[in-house]
Amino acid sequence: MSAYRLLFLCFAMLSFALELGAEPTPPAKRAVLAREIRATPEEPGITFNSVHVDGPFIAMTFDDGPSATLTPKLLDLLATHHIRATFFVIGENVAEHPEIVARAAREGHEIANHSWSHPNLGKMPDESVRRQLRQTDDAIKNATGKRPTLMRPPYGSITAREKRWIHDEFGYDIILWDVDPYDWKRPGPAVVRARILKETRPGSIVLSHDIHPGTIEAMPSTFDELEAKGFKFVTVSELIKMATARPSHPSPQPTGTVLPNAVGSPSPTPSPTSSPSS
Ligand SMILES: [Zn+2]
Repeated sequence: MSAYRLLFLCFAMLSFALELGAEPTPPAKRAVLAREIRATPEEPGITFNSVHVDGPFIAMTFDDGPSATLTPKLLDLLATHHIRATFFVIGENVAEHPEIVARAAREGHEIANHSWSHPNLGKMPDESVRRQLRQTDDAIKNATGKRPTLMRPPYGSITAREKRWIHDEFGYDIILWDVDPYDWKRPGPAVVRARILKETRPGSIVLSHDIHPGTIEAMPSTFDELEAKGFKFVTVSELIKMATARPSHPSPQPTGTVLPNAVGSPSPTPSPTSSPSS
């Protein structure tokens, strides 16, 4: 092998190693993982992509914060609209800005666990996953006085086995989403708004990130238009509490809606009359 070739190989391996350790994960990797999640089956009563509710209720969720500048801006806007949202926070950021998290909790928002440093939990040893969640749980408790009851795995990446032990050990429900505007790709506020408006339906869990300026810019008109459509905003825990069983023949939703009271019951028979978009 020539010296040039060897040099190139070393450089390529170094780049790869750096990429593995980098935060945040590059968009391309996130896109792959976001697609993977669609194929991940839900565990009834543990994992939620959306919730079946009687009424126009939805949950707005904001991930990866708090951001020193953008989260307070979003909190001002949410207060103006009397909207309560759910923040899936990164432990490192909570430790840096506990006062922002405390404010969010004081103003009625739900604070939930999104790991300490945003790694891919689906590829980590249990002990590291446990540490990621425990440290963040403690940071949230320190900031707000309350422990979270929900978690969302970074990139939506989590194994079925992890879901079960995390649920058993921490008592967390695992929260995914059914509306994804891909705002982390920074497509511009108009696109973020259009995607959310197009996909949101009763019971939706809307994913966004309060660390991108375009997302915050999109929110005033997004909230206006969701309100104009009659949607009412609740936290994820409130949405789950509203979950209703279907009157007859519950059918699996295309988004993977879970009925918590279906735990342990036989698999529901798909109803031929149910609309796939309902
Ligand atoms: Zn995230």
